[in-house]
Amino acid sequence: MLQSLSQKIFSRVIKMNYLDSQDYMDVKIHNINLIFDIIKLNKGISRTEIAKISKMSSMSITRIVTQLINENLVYQGETSKGNVGRRAVYLHINPNAFYTLTINIDINHISLAVVNLANKIILQTLIDINRNISMEEAVDTSYESYKKLIENSNIEFEQIKCITIVCAGIIDNNKGIITFSAQMKWKDINIQNYASDKFKLDVLVENDVKAAIQCEIQVNNKFKNENIVYLTIGSGVGAAVSNKGKIFRGENNSAGEIGHTIVDVDGIMCECGRKGCLNTILNINSMINSAKKYDKSINSIRDIIYNYYRKQPWAEEIVDKICKYFCIAINNIACSYNPTLIIIGGELIYKFPEFLTIAQNSIYAVEYRPFNDILNIVVESETKGRANLIGGAILAQKYVLNKIFT
Ligand SMILES: [Zn+2]
Repeated sequence: MLQSLSQKIFSRVIKMNYLDSQDYMDVKIHNINLIFDIIKLNKGISRTEIAKISKMSSMSITRIVTQLINENLVYQGETSKGNVGRRAVYLHINPNAFYTLTINIDINHISLAVVNLANKIILQTLIDINRNISMEEAVDTSYESYKKLIENSNIEFEQIKCITIVCAGIIDNNKGIITFSAQMKWKDINIQNYASDKFKLDVLVENDVKAAIQCEIQVNNKFKNENIVYLTIGSGVGAAVSNKGKIFRGENNSAGEIGHTIVDVDGIMCECGRKGCLNTILNINSMINSAKKYDKSINSIRDIIYNYYRKQPWAEEIVDKICKYFCIAINNIACSYNPTLIIIGGELIYKFPEFLTIAQNSIYAVEYRPFNDILNIVVESETKGRANLIGGAILAQKYVLNKIFT
């Protein structure tokens, strides 16, 4: 017994010797994030239960929890009798310890969301923009709306600790650069520096779908152990891939840009300069434009759905076409990434949730979906089309936690 204990201590010392100071800091931050996430997900949990889930020693748990309490990030709630007669103390996160701001830039509008530590959007606003807006104009407009939003709320500017800008396209999240956004017609622009100067806050930048998948992984902890793909259909179509909790980015962050895979070689011109990208067909604006050819009064996806259920032949034709290309997208994702789960998100599925069942029952599901017993396809969690906003907040929260404890 003594020998095995000394061996354990010896092996720990060896491990510590091999860790340089950066490694040690990485392990420390990783453990703090892990414990914080466990408390966040379990809403009232004892130190003993945390030890069971995290498989860390009770000494480490106590040390980290004390640090989190000292920073006002966690508080001790009511006590009650545990099953061995001792009183258990339940830990909760303090949802209002600080807030973060997510700015989601899309073709037709910019969404701003102030999110608390419980991943709840507490303030939100939507700004209409025109399609030729420059990056600087987008940030300036966001800043003016942000000022108004905070001034008309109970929140102080000092409580906002970090901003995440999420945008469609290829994003270099390390450098804060939008490498290429076909939707916004932006190329190689450092939005991080510009926004940071404007807001006087730390700014992170991430692809909108890569942010959304990180929301799904935190909300559904089991996804950390699976190979999953998040597919979004809104003003464009895009995907993000997570391999057991780690985002697959590729060489320059363009992994998952399924919107620019070519599905019709003689198709119409895409914003990226090529013909027949999936993006030219599988998006809400294309659906509305197609519908307008039959009925000029159609202005929204809801108008198309209404006519689809009234069995208008043109609306049935549009939904049928979308089903076809949706099934092609699913097939291409399944063949490229071999996931166990594809989560469908974005405006189309939020406004038309029955669409998934319609597509799965269409002939195209048989034609294009590879025969694969292990693949499940589900609609996104209860984020109501806002997974990218909450995902952006999760990134900012982690950044702030790292800053506090580094
Ligand atoms: Zn394209």
